[in-house]
Amino acid sequence: MAANELNDLIPMSEWLPGLKKPLIIGGPCSAESPEQLMQTAKEIKALGQVDIFRAGIWKPRTFPNNFEGVGSIGLEWLREVKKETGMPVATEVGSVKHVFEAIKYGVDLIWIGARTTANPFAMQEIAEALQGVDIPVLVKNPLSPDLELWDGGINRIYAAGIRKLGAIHRGFSTWGKSDLRNTPHWQVPIELKRIHPNLPIIGDPSHICGNRTMIAEIAQRAMDFNLDGLMIESHCNPDAAWSDAKQQVTPARLGEILSGLKMKSESTSDEKFIRTLDELRSQIDMYDDQLLNILEARMKIAEKIGLHKKDNNVSILQSARWSDIINKMIAKGNGKGLSDKFISEIFQSIHEESINHQINVTRDI
Ligand code: PEP
Ligand code: MN
Repeated sequence: MAANELNDLIPMSEWLPGLKKPLIIGGPCSAESPEQLMQTAKEIKALGQVDIFRAGIWKPRTFPNNFEGVGSIGLEWLREVKKETGMPVATEVGSVKHVFEAIKYGVDLIWIGARTTANPFAMQEIAEALQGVDIPVLVKNPLSPDLELWDGGINRIYAAGIRKLGAIHRGFSTWGKSDLRNTPHWQVPIELKRIHPNLPIIGDPSHICGNRTMIAEIAQRAMDFNLDGLMIESHCNPDAAWSDAKQQVTPARLGEILSGLKMKSESTSDEKFIRTLDELRSQIDMYDDQLLNILEARMKIAEKIGLHKKDNNVSILQSARWSDIINKMIAKGNGKGLSDKFISEIFQSIHEESINHQINVTRDI
């Protein structure tokens, strides 16, 4: 099956009554008990800023014996939430059984989780179960930054006849330590938007961050990239949450985050110029952040080299190695349209900083 243009999608504003950009989805990572769900839902409803209430009923967990969701009983609690608060409700599906159960209990929107999107067999089965069903479906990106796999999953759901279709950007797994649980690789959702301009993409700062402190910043970044909405995890007592406790915020904090967002303006030609400029500037900010992270990682390695040399009684400065690096980088930089002067200046200062780090780390105090 070749990738489709997806040009007859139904606009997000027509999925459910009252929806507009940005679509805000909020609620706990997991449904835990009728009380936790209703309490959280009432607090979220009171904000007046959330369009759809979310809760995971079936949780795909990395390790066995972790909390794997309350199962179908939670759908009854979700139905109560909907009755009591009037908010539409959403949950994750990962199998044919989940699809049928969610539809049976009147769930208003379903999403497919990152681990499921990565599996074309599961996606095909879910797509077939959705044939003839009129429900909005959001497809999370797969765990790896594989645009084709994401697009392929979206295409399978589209081929089943779903036209209320969107994507969720929740970042990508990475090896090694990082401030964020899942690296955003913003280039990937930006490219998805370029291929499918009318496919709504919702940002999921909770799963990108994995912590509470950076959610506002990442949510703003998603808005700066002109994504179409946000999904943010919120729990009435985040510290006691049974899953993703570290990243869940109270409904009150969710309200602050949403109120603090600076929204980008829509359409007319002048505003279009500003929006494009903002998007490009956000891309520059993203690359600047990446540069800093890379420089930090490079300095850490330099420190390790410093210690290694010290242990072996070797001097810090080894000029042959250094002129090798400069020459190699100038040649490579030329191939990338970067001038000799720029490359030698930038590597000169990187080298100086590395030496300082090596000196500091090996200094006997
Ligand atoms: C979730 O939304 O709670 C979830 C399990 O997300 P993901 O599939 O992005 O890990
Ligand atoms: Mn979660």
